[in-house]
Amino acid sequence: MPIYRLLAGGYEECFSWEKTFVFWPGCHGVGISGGSSGRTPVGSALIDEEASNGHRLAQYHNILGIGAHPDDVEIGCGGSLVAAKRGGASIHAVSLSRCDEEMPAIRKGQREEEFFAASAIIGAKAHTFDVPDREFPEHRREIMLLLENLQEQLRPDLVFFPSLDDPHQDHDTVAHAVVRTFRRKETLLQYEILRHGSHSFTPTLFVDITATLDTKLRALGEYKSQLESRAYFDEDSFRSLARTRGAQSGCEYAEGFMVQMLYL
Ligand SMILES: [Zn+2]
Repeated sequence: MPIYRLLAGGYEECFSWEKTFVFWPGCHGVGISGGSSGRTPVGSALIDEEASNGHRLAQYHNILGIGAHPDDVEIGCGGSLVAAKRGGASIHAVSLSRCDEEMPAIRKGQREEEFFAASAIIGAKAHTFDVPDREFPEHRREIMLLLENLQEQLRPDLVFFPSLDDPHQDHDTVAHAVVRTFRRKETLLQYEILRHGSHSFTPTLFVDITATLDTKLRALGEYKSQLESRAYFDEDSFRSLARTRGAQSGCEYAEGFMVQMLYL
């Protein structure tokens, strides 16, 4: 039985899934609902200046950043996505969870709205789903099916995803599902999510984001819910990590990645 059905043809214009009423086992009836919004971010017009980096990224035409939660993609590869966009690529940002149940202080829908706003700033098409936050390991199969559908519809040639060693169970589940799903010679790059316990990440590939850091930080600034509640979530943290990766790779600011698959 299919979990979801593609409704609209031509995902460039509209990419959305029907609400399905398929219930997740053991999660109180939360389903994969709504799928992606298909919104073309209004802010993409902001990114129109000549790219000063992203030349090597420009060999990729369709780039997918996959995250478990809103903000994962911007933290891990937001600067690189902007650079790729300036190089001519189509970029997509995915949040597999809307995190509506994360904490009482956050109203329902707030984190998704923040994700859409941040995606608009980096110029990505935003796609969200209803995998229950912090329960990803119990939903591996459904996540695989969602990823297979994204692979089929978007046909990315480069996929950014969380580290296989990320200690967060949702990030870890997504990372392993990505490796199992994307086996059509996509380039697979693991990103780092700066947070408590992320210190073991050792990058092997760097993208100069000196020209795009400000846009990344502006996108991250949309996550008001996180700015107010997470010790690691502030501009100083993100700028410092980017400076560290830049120092390690010979530029001012960079994002670091670990190569999972790369074909030469
Ligand atoms: Zn996350």
